[in-house]
Amino acid sequence: MSSLVQQLSADRQLTALRTVVQCKAKPTVLREGPAAGDGPGTAWVAFLCPAHSEGLPGWPATRTHAYQHKVSCGTVLDFRVAEQVLQSHADLWLTALTGVDPAAYGGVWSDVLDQADRVLRERLEQDADEDGDGEDGDGEHSMLTMMWLACRAAAEGDLMQAASALGYCETIAEGMGPWRDADLAPQ
Ligand SMILES: [Zn+2]
Repeated sequence: MSSLVQQLSADRQLTALRTVVQCKAKPTVLREGPAAGDGPGTAWVAFLCPAHSEGLPGWPATRTHAYQHKVSCGTVLDFRVAEQVLQSHADLWLTALTGVDPAAYGGVWSDVLDQADRVLRERLEQDADEDGDGEDGDGEHSMLTMMWLACRAAAEGDLMQAASALGYCETIAEGMGPWRDADLAPQ
């Protein structure tokens, strides 16, 4: 990691590597998130191109640093503890996509993820029945695989691994906008 990232993170351990925007442009800035809260260092840093440098919804940055890097725009290094990373997945997309709110499960992540998995699985089966064309299912199937891994990791008490698996789901959800909007739109 670069010295700036090291400095901003106060040498915290990286919890998750996330891709929160589908954008192939090269970053020109690094945006710094709020303080992690449980010690020195920032909660996250995001690498963004000029088009996205004003910031992203759900990612309130505190400072912007000029920064060139070879990673893709939308790459986020997350330094928060696993529970906080899981909560941010819920806040940003998981609850919107599945209707499953962690608050209703007392913060028991294995239950939250099990329920989200159930909702996604039922929806996919329903879609398959309705369409019968077998198209556009790759993203959903990949997401179900990663969601299953997240469930299993959470059941074993490995929330870091669960957060990592959800990171893949986040990227897939990001890439399947129409599927998502169609499901969320009133019928
Ligand atoms: Zn961008």
